Amino acid sequence: MNSKKICIVGTGYVGMASAIGFADLGHDVTGYDIDIERVRGLQRGVTPYREAGIEEALRANLAAGRITFHEDLEAAGAGADYVVVAVGTPSLPDGSADLSAVHAAVEALVPVISKDAVIVLRSTVPVGTTDRLADAHDATFVYAPEFLREGSALHDFLHPDRIVIGAEAESHAEGYAALLESLGRPAFATTYRNAELIKSFSNAFLALKISFANEVATFCDAVDADALAVLRGVGHDRRIGAAFLTPGIGFGGPCFEKDVKALLHASGELGVGRELLAATMRVNSAQPKYIVRMLEEELGDLAGAHIAVWGLAFKAGTDDVRDSIAVRIVNELVARGAHTVAYDPAVREAPPEINCELRHTAMDAIEHADALLVLTEWDEFAAISPWAIAKRLIRGVVVDGRNILDPQAIAATGLVYRGVGRRPTSDTQLEAVS
Ligand code: NAD
Repeated sequence: MNSKKICIVGTGYVGMASAIGFADLGHDVTGYDIDIERVRGLQRGVTPYREAGIEEALRANLAAGRITFHEDLEAAGAGADYVVVAVGTPSLPDGSADLSAVHAAVEALVPVISKDAVIVLRSTVPVGTTDRLADAHDATFVYAPEFLREGSALHDFLHPDRIVIGAEAESHAEGYAALLESLGRPAFATTYRNAELIKSFSNAFLALKISFANEVATFCDAVDADALAVLRGVGHDRRIGAAFLTPGIGFGGPCFEKDVKALLHASGELGVGRELLAATMRVNSAQPKYIVRMLEEELGDLAGAHIAVWGLAFKAGTDDVRDSIAVRIVNELVARGAHTVAYDPAVREAPPEINCELRHTAMDAIEHADALLVLTEWDEFAAISPWAIAKRLIRGVVVDGRNILDPQAIAATGLVYRGVGRRPTSDTQLEAVS
């Protein structure tokens, strides 16, 4: 393999998966971040967030000398063939993407890297961003979006469904594709704009599927049908596919919402169709209230009620609470006067924007609570005995916002079970009859 020197700028979820992934593939990797504490932790083999396998892989690569972290961009970028930019692009109040970190990173690195180095932008950016960067700087750019999921970031980096490369010249796309050649995955070269939109519309479609599933769930709730069975049947059609047809609390996290909002903002400016994007967001915004309403239907007025919450992270496998719907639901409960106590196996501190006590175990959290609300799909919650839950809950109500508990086993203990679009008596399977 033709090993290259790759410098990673921005060592968050995408930057670290890229850094470790490229090192695992045999490249010589350096990392830089403006957050000096983060860099110092990484030098000692400590990652700033929880992600299965990342810390072990980091330590193995540090020990093998395949990866180093620097407090100084010039040192990190020295001799790099490729400089990967993976800094954050959060939402601004008007929904557009905040590109200040991308601009700051590119402006800082262009003067200190070799003229032959290729800058690989991996952050999710609005259409036209890479064209503008390439026009503004005397440097070679490639736009290579990342499609990983938090919770399985390194695995996803190493097993992508496809590698998308936006480039101005075929040779640039081929050069980047060669870095990942040993993965044996299909790589597609296209323009910067197409590559930017492939990323944005991929996330928009996944978000749309989730909102679709949630609308199916509210419909099924109204007609006493089981949304899980319905969606399973729908998803069996290969033209549709089962992935992401999962009703629940709605999509949260640092990507889907901000990426849909950025597309909405751009389509508003362009004056082009945006009905589906807007509806995707509207359905998602209504979902926390739908979850809270289920609790109200069982408990009545929530003022003074004690609600135990299992899960704050936006999904299982991560400690990331950025734009977590669980946090929004806790805030809805607090606004109604409920007292909330939460447990999440990965979240060690309550996010500052919520007023919620944190407990160290799932059992501690439900002790003397009126009701249990499940908001993150951690396996550990599904493994807890319904009898242990029944023994502790005072008013015996379980609202399973992720449909991960066994409704029949819960109901057998005398607890009231409410899932999202799910019948309490359902085993959610479509029985094969031949
Ligand atoms: P993050 O917030 O976890 O990490 C960003 C890092 O960049 C931080 O460590 C920050 O300190 C650093 N940084 C900011 N400005 C910098 C600068 N000027 N120079 C050097 N470092 C700087 O972000 P993330 O979740 O890894 O996302 C990065 C990008 O990738 C975003 O555009 C996001 O939309 C996209 N993305 C994220 C995911 C995901 O699941 N998190 C998946 C695919 C794509």
